[in-house]
Amino acid sequence: MKYLANVTTLEFSPEKCTGCGRCVEVCPHGVFEINEKKAHITDKDLCMECGACTNNCEFGAIKVNSGVGCASAVINSILYGGEPACDCNGTDSKSACC
Ligand code: SF4
Ligand code: SF4
Repeated sequence: MKYLANVTTLEFSPEKCTGCGRCVEVCPHGVFEINEKKAHITDKDLCMECGACTNNCEFGAIKVNSGVGCASAVINSILYGGEPACDCNGTDSKSACC
């Protein structure tokens, strides 16, 4: 699920990346992949700013303002109707934040 285009606060510093792969393991939306022993962003707009990657990257290669994704849920609930909700449980609601 994509969110609003070009609004995520996700920042990646490849020069700090050791290629440990932890971000790939923890990201629920497949934002990172490992290529040639470095992480790469597959599609920044997939990021829902949960903060799992930055909390688990021991090398400071990722920054994100976690929690902002909930603002996206509020906006989406206005656009599409329904209560702002998190779809971490797999409901895939358009008004979900993650
Ligand atoms: S967790 Fe950090 S150091 Fe490890 S692959 Fe991801 S960005 Fe690179
Ligand atoms: S903040 Fe969450 S969704 Fe975004 S890249 Fe990090 S782990 Fe993935």
